[in-house]
Amino acid sequence: MNPASFPLPFGVFSVGADRPRVGVAIGDRVLDLAATLGDPVFDHPSLNPFLARGPAAWSAARAALLGALDTGGHTGDLERHLVPIDDVRLHLPIEVADFVDFFSSLEHASNAGRILRPGQAALKPNWRHLPVGYHGRAGTVVVDGTPVRRPWGQYKDGPAGPPHYAPSAKLDIEVELGFVVGAGSEPGTTVTVDEFEQHVFGTVLLLDWSARDIQAWEYEPLGPFLSKSFATTISPWVIPLESLAAAKVVPAPQDPAPLSHLTGTAPFSYDIRLELRLNDHLVSTPGFASMYWTPAQQLAHMTSNGACLRTGDLYGTGTISSWDASGYGSFMELTWNGEVPIDLPDGDRRGFLQDDDVVVVSATAPAPDGGRIALGRVSGRVLPATSGAGLG
Ligand code: MN
Repeated sequence: MNPASFPLPFGVFSVGADRPRVGVAIGDRVLDLAATLGDPVFDHPSLNPFLARGPAAWSAARAALLGALDTGGHTGDLERHLVPIDDVRLHLPIEVADFVDFFSSLEHASNAGRILRPGQAALKPNWRHLPVGYHGRAGTVVVDGTPVRRPWGQYKDGPAGPPHYAPSAKLDIEVELGFVVGAGSEPGTTVTVDEFEQHVFGTVLLLDWSARDIQAWEYEPLGPFLSKSFATTISPWVIPLESLAAAKVVPAPQDPAPLSHLTGTAPFSYDIRLELRLNDHLVSTPGFASMYWTPAQQLAHMTSNGACLRTGDLYGTGTISSWDASGYGSFMELTWNGEVPIDLPDGDRRGFLQDDDVVVVSATAPAPDGGRIALGRVSGRVLPATSGAGLG
């Protein structure tokens, strides 16, 4: 395989009791970057110091890495800096600064509108004019494999009943990508759609854990709050945008045309295909390419009021979905809010997630030399709610 077609995802790993440091996945091994490139910026337990250096430094590191792979692969020099991935522990790759989540799939927004507000317009009047989003909770972003405890919260069992405080009975996930800001911006300035690649380092796979019963009661009029803030899981590997050059595609058409501050000169999306598995059963295959609002428009929107970006900012794209069940990116859509449970091959049925369920999302993108590159995975197991009257 040509090294130029390696995805070269960046992450943070440790071996035994050693302190965590930056590595790059090469097949089933992890390359110790500080040792390979001799740069102390990689001898750090998060990617943030490297990300803060900006796009010229990201490109230079990639070029140095490809050079080392080209020569070291022949001479064997790299061998001593490669660790089998089974021998390492992978950590949260970034110190998350702010976390924002969008709602940018026309398919998902339409499905959700039909499910939650039957008989009304599926989309709110603002939806086609700006990428709708909300501020999430940075401190509860966790890495792949971290168990997620079923949250308690306040909700109603039906429209007429009084609210009560209980473990969520409608625990769900949303299949998303997350984009990681490397280079920040100054307060009071804006970042344009065309400046996306000057600020965003790469992408992660993201599971937006969502308690639909808590969400339905709390979200009017300010949006999701405790129904989302208990956990968000990201993949341990950040795929640099430079690795996705062959995955760029023309984005979905937008009608009406967005206002000028949300318009770029050469808009693009990414042909990233995802697979959602529940307990090892493939349940859907969402595709990112059809997202209505692009990651570049989301970034521009976030700064369009002058709010600054910081290294480590993470933004979720919103649930990636489709018009039919083959690509639904949430169990709310797959089971139509639990009313139409899905049958699993082992005979189990599911409305929403049960305790001990394991959700895994993986993804691929086109490789420069044809074929597809694997973008890793993100997963989580549901732990039962704490017993007793609340979290205690
Ligand atoms: Mn979401």
